Amino acid sequence: MIYADYNATTPCLPEVADLMRHFLCEDFANPSNRASLSGRRARAGVDTAREQVARAIGATPDEVIFTSGATEAANMAMIGVMQRLLRERPRILTSAVEHPAVCMPADACAQAGADWQEVAVDSQGRIDLNQLEQALRHPTALVCVMAANNETGVLQPLDQVVRLAHEAGALVFADYTQMLGKLPFNVHTDRVDFACFSAHKCYGPKGVGALYKRRGLSLPPLIRGGGQEEGLRSGTENVPGIAGFGLAADLAAREVHSRKAHLQRLTAQLEGLVTVQVPGVVVQSGEADRLPGTSLFSLPRLKGNWLGQLPDVIASSGSACASMQGKPSHVLTSMGVDETTAMRSVRISLGQPTLEADVRHIAKRLIEGAVTLGAV
Ligand code: PLP
Repeated sequence: MIYADYNATTPCLPEVADLMRHFLCEDFANPSNRASLSGRRARAGVDTAREQVARAIGATPDEVIFTSGATEAANMAMIGVMQRLLRERPRILTSAVEHPAVCMPADACAQAGADWQEVAVDSQGRIDLNQLEQALRHPTALVCVMAANNETGVLQPLDQVVRLAHEAGALVFADYTQMLGKLPFNVHTDRVDFACFSAHKCYGPKGVGALYKRRGLSLPPLIRGGGQEEGLRSGTENVPGIAGFGLAADLAAREVHSRKAHLQRLTAQLEGLVTVQVPGVVVQSGEADRLPGTSLFSLPRLKGNWLGQLPDVIASSGSACASMQGKPSHVLTSMGVDETTAMRSVRISLGQPTLEADVRHIAKRLIEGAVTLGAV
């Protein structure tokens, strides 16, 4: 089997797993137990990870809050901001191509009385800045936009989104889940107010992530209890997961240039092979700036599901959430792709372990599938 679903999740690096094992089996004491050496070591593990994540994203350690993943971080920021600002600024804006981790908290805010509006995207999946500007004429608390899309890889014009939002007095939440280790960035220079991250997208463990909260901003607690994570998220810290995330984030940031070059080279190879041999194939968001490593292929004339034609390739049909519900991806339909074509599209997402031979094999299977399904 060839794994080509790295945007869904990545394998844990061995050195990350080794470090986690250390905090599971050796320095396993509660990090709040400062009286014991093991507890102090566990605390040091959390502190080191906070410094590593902060450095990797361009923040300071006090701006990093560990969570169970990007979904929790998005919920914490979005629901928290809207709770605080609902009366003065009832509007919350999201792009039409957000992950459910952002759409569903926005929906919860709407149910609590907020005025949630989705801002349209163009055929490449980029947010419509004119529509955003219009929508910002109403008092808006928060604009939520994905830095890089998990399905198409499209990069949003974050700089312009932030400028428009800030000019209108709104805060910005950006979903960077797919960016870490694929493209360099810095949350301070990007001037975002909140951002979310997830360890399992960058060769760390599942079930751990972080919220970046710009210094000076405050949020109400999401989970109340013993006051961990500055009182925002109580409960004994997931020390092995946090330490693993710290190391994975550190490596991601250190290796970002070589990882990016590897993914760019393989993506060009894959898209080159498929577009030459499959006339009419569309690489979604292919005319826009994209994450390296993400190729979402659509082919309007297919007489069946392309993904089903890849017996030894683990890929996806775009969004795992959408495919689980048997629905077309809202990302593609928002870009103007018809529902049948959206359902039959295939997302190939490559990773650091991917080899050129893997790419040749994936391309071969895609081409054979297109022939079988009568499109070539
Ligand atoms: N945002 C994006 C862009 C994602 O790709 C994902 C993962 O599927 C998430 C958020 C949710 O991340 P997590 O699994 O850490 O909650």
